Amino acid sequence: MAQAGVVLDLDHFNCSVCLDVLKSPVTIPCGHSYCHNCIQNYWDQDDYLGVFACPQCRQTFNPRPALARSTMLADVVEKFKETRRSRFESEQ
Ligand SMILES: [Zn+2]
Ligand SMILES: [Zn+2]
Repeated sequence: MAQAGVVLDLDHFNCSVCLDVLKSPVTIPCGHSYCHNCIQNYWDQDDYLGVFACPQCRQTFNPRPALARSTMLADVVEKFKETRRSRFESEQ
């Protein structure tokens, strides 16, 4: 399976929990980004353990990190979606 650089770029804007384009992206302390809802739900399930791990790299955080919306990433994702949409429309 050939993977072009474009595919890697796409992955960068995908949430590894829902496997969709990031919605309200937040970046956690290890540097990975998730949808705000996805990481909240993910960590809600781990709440009783008192340890919160990154779904991707398994780095653990304690206490639970505060989630700040990544405005820069949100902008990039919006532009990315616009580009994808206009490309899709021009193919019609
Ligand atoms: Zn998600
Ligand atoms: Zn991580």
